[in-house]
Amino acid sequence: MNKLIIKGEDYRAVVDYCLKEKPNEACGIMAGKREEEGGRVTRVYLMKNTKASPKEYLMEPEEQFAVFKDMRQKGLELISIFHSHPHSPARPSAKDIAMAHYKEAIYTIISLEKAKEVMRAFLISDDKYREIGLKIEE
Ligand SMILES: [Zn+2]
Repeated sequence: MNKLIIKGEDYRAVVDYCLKEKPNEACGIMAGKREEEGGRVTRVYLMKNTKASPKEYLMEPEEQFAVFKDMRQKGLELISIFHSHPHSPARPSAKDIAMAHYKEAIYTIISLEKAKEVMRAFLISDDKYREIGLKIEE
C-alpha cells in the first residue's frame, strides 16, 4: 500500500480521540479495503492504551482480538495501526520501529505537539521506515 485514504469524519474521530487521551498516547486500528490507489479506511477502532503513558502504547490483547474478529465478520482488512505522539513529531520512534510487527500495515502517527495536529503515514520494515501519502476525502 502506497497511500492511506481516509474520510474527513474518520480523520476527525481519530484526532479527537488522540486529543482526549492527551497527555497519554492514544492508539487504534484503521480497517477497510486495500485498493490499487492505496488503503481505503472505512472503519476506525479507537482502542485503549494499556500503558497509559505519554511515551509509549500497547493495545490490550483481548480488545485487539475482538477488533480483528469484528473486522473478519465485516469483511474488512487491516489497513493501519495508529497512535499519537502528544509531545513529539509525527515520526516513528526507535521503539515504534522495533515494535512494528505488521509489515503489511501502514503505521499512522498523529503528532499533537503543535496547536494544529499533524498526521503522517509510514511503512516500517527491516528497521527502516518510509513515509507514504495521506489523502483525506470528504
Ligand atoms: Zn510512537
